[in-house]
Amino acid sequence: MTEQTTKQPKATKLVGVKGMNDILPPDSAQWEWLEAQVRGLMARYAYRNVRLPIVEPTALFVRGLGEVTDIVEKEMYSFEDRLNGEQLTLRPEGTAGLVRAVVEHNALYEGGKRLYYMGPMFRHERPQRGRYRQFHQIGAEVLGFGGPEVDAELILLAHDLWQVLGLQAVRLELNSLGQPDERKAHRSALIAHFEQHADLLDEDAKRRLHSNPLRILDTKNPAMGPVVASAPQLLDFLGEASMAHFNAVKAILDANGVAYSINPRLVRGMDYYNLTVFEFITDALGSQGTICGGGRYDYLIEQVGGKPAPAVGWALGVERVLELLKEQGDVQAAPVPDVYAVIPDVAALPVAIKTLQALRAAGVSAQMHAGSGEGMGSMKSQFKKADGSGALHALVFGAEELAQGQVTVKALRDGAGAQRLQPLDAVATWAHSLQSL
Ligand code: ATP
Ligand code: MG
Repeated sequence: MTEQTTKQPKATKLVGVKGMNDILPPDSAQWEWLEAQVRGLMARYAYRNVRLPIVEPTALFVRGLGEVTDIVEKEMYSFEDRLNGEQLTLRPEGTAGLVRAVVEHNALYEGGKRLYYMGPMFRHERPQRGRYRQFHQIGAEVLGFGGPEVDAELILLAHDLWQVLGLQAVRLELNSLGQPDERKAHRSALIAHFEQHADLLDEDAKRRLHSNPLRILDTKNPAMGPVVASAPQLLDFLGEASMAHFNAVKAILDANGVAYSINPRLVRGMDYYNLTVFEFITDALGSQGTICGGGRYDYLIEQVGGKPAPAVGWALGVERVLELLKEQGDVQAAPVPDVYAVIPDVAALPVAIKTLQALRAAGVSAQMHAGSGEGMGSMKSQFKKADGSGALHALVFGAEELAQGQVTVKALRDGAGAQRLQPLDAVATWAHSLQSL
């Protein structure tokens, strides 16, 4: 006992925050692959990248997303800046911050913008498959254009992304939320309907009945299904202009072979939407099946203090997209180096490393064997590491070869064991042919 108490206590192991995941190799390779596909596609659609702060003033989200929303009511990581008392929030989504930035920098001065972002978002939700507290979104936003053609363009962009990624079994649901005056008429009808069935409402719905009845349609409570299904539909309240906008979006999708279904109860989780809203959904991920959602938000820019301008966008959940790919059995091969340098003796290190630098400069992926601090280790253990690295070839920097200005190239995969000598001074020229050795 006494001995134990006098000993230094063992440091307790620190673990990450619940619902916030580490993304390590080999999984990170999937992420890099996906991000590269997205960058390529965004470039083909002429969308430009933005990188925005992760922390924003809390007021931005309260004003932008709406006070009576899941996010603002219960999911935000908010805190006070200890140094100046500012109220700050870890961004729960990307649109509000992007709009804030566009307004702040007067970015629409010269006309509309097509932008995209990638990055972590934070919501204090109950962690489960497809639902995390730090998760990642990729978003595309078009600001300054009010026509249905950009709504359709964004949907086509997402649809193309599923093709590029090889995603199957994703369906598209569409709805129109109309304009504020149309929503007002619908709102009254909605309140009347829910009041009539007050006994069927859950606590959330009762609370929102008069503050934000539309939100009730977005319920995740299956018990609310019937009363939501029988609620008056916004589509029936749309005027001619809203209907024409909706029909124009549909016509473009039809002409481009994009299948969709109309879901009159699709309202999305934030208050800022109007006219077109949409979600891409899969049935392969259980109840966390929405992989991408978006819509038009023509009044948000104004709400955040900017000069009124229309906008539309979507955001996809990276974790859910990757989970769906995994579910399909589509896993990218983890990257392997082209060559692994086996270095029998520390004396060879300067030349070996110089050679590897030349190879890397020529575009070859080269991994150097590293020792424990006491020499380079046995040839056997080095070859074991070379094999384990997945490299196609080992470069053996033996003293004898080096004395003749040469290195041994040994095949580790196809035709494993075959080897030949290469002159060190011609490394860059044979680097590219390594694959076909
Ligand atoms: P859900 O209805 O599943 O809660 P949402 O309507 O809150 O989603 P959005 O705010 O529209 O989601 O975010 C866009 C996408 O981001 C979602 O479709 C989903 O793929 C992903 N997403 C949202 N919340 C999470 C989360 N907590 N963890 C992982 N992905 C998420
Ligand atoms: Mg949510």
